[in-house]
Amino acid sequence: IKTVAVLTSGGDAPGMNAAIRAVVRTANSLGLECYGVREGYNGLIHGDFTKMGPRSVKNIINEGGTILKSARSSEFKTPEGRDKAFENCKKHNIDALVCIGGDGSFTGAKVFNEEYGLPVIGVPGTIDNDIFGTDNTIGYDTALNTAMEAIDKIRDTATSHNRVFFVEVMGRDAGFIALNSGIATGALDILIPEQKDSMEELFGTFRKAEKVGKSSSIVVVAEGEKLGNIYDLAKATKDEFPNFDIRVAVLGHIQRGGSPSCADRVLASKMGYGAVMGLVEGKSKVMVGVKSNRLIYTPIEEAIKKHNEIDKDLLKISEILAM
Ligand code: ADP
Repeated sequence: IKTVAVLTSGGDAPGMNAAIRAVVRTANSLGLECYGVREGYNGLIHGDFTKMGPRSVKNIINEGGTILKSARSSEFKTPEGRDKAFENCKKHNIDALVCIGGDGSFTGAKVFNEEYGLPVIGVPGTIDNDIFGTDNTIGYDTALNTAMEAIDKIRDTATSHNRVFFVEVMGRDAGFIALNSGIATGALDILIPEQKDSMEELFGTFRKAEKVGKSSSIVVVAEGEKLGNIYDLAKATKDEFPNFDIRVAVLGHIQRGGSPSCADRVLASKMGYGAVMGLVEGKSKVMVGVKSNRLIYTPIEEAIKKHNEIDKDLLKISEILAM
């Protein structure tokens, strides 16, 4: 291969810039040309390609977001859209495509490869950590730390006023951010979609906490929690415990922003390098990942279909340490 293109697609995540930088500089070190495609698959369709060299990616390793911008492209889900995308790849002599994104973006890359044969490689960039084939995804560590710092602050005010706080964190259908930030902040309870929760259990935990003399409590709720939305949970709790002073905090998009943590910068650098090396070695339709500190490649359909298991030990530990 002589020319690679790189894009960021789907939900953005801190560390995507570090991954772009690694792709561009690794490509350059191997004598390959590199194009950045703006706004995910929309850029492929509209021909929004920019030639990138090592200096195009200076001063971005510490920046949140993505300099290439990200987008969701409904047009890329149509054969006509993908046909336009391929025409633009041909026009720019693109030999391979690096897609930094989540499982939706990987599905797009897989379909595109199957139709046109253009080699593709996925780089997992999402704060949710819900991708199989890697211990962590790019952005997860930063988001986790953002959530932890925010919940720490909520704890200060919760303690001052003897309040019960329900705090919602991101993670789509996965509870990784909730479980880990909940443990790190000493949450009384953690509600995640991977575990069957019931209101009765939650009330039981509150009763136990009252008995041992806890005066303030934090319950961390994953956005994908199946028991109900956070406002309904808070209301049901108020009905059961009228004397509780209950507040709800939804952390929201602050979790997607900010300067990437050291772990995310290193991970993104490794994966960006691994993506280009993989393509040069002839790999395609795979996702690059890092497991036990080693670069590995997983067939992209496996990365899309399978899911990382939540750590059952951590669930148990969170219960034991909460009281
Ligand atoms: P993420 O990559 O964060 O999971 P999305 O699920 O929104 O984000 O997917 C990002 C983009 O990937 C979509 O907007 C679309 O352009 C493309 N995509 C997703 N699924 C398909 C599909 N089945 N066929 C073609 N493109 C797809």
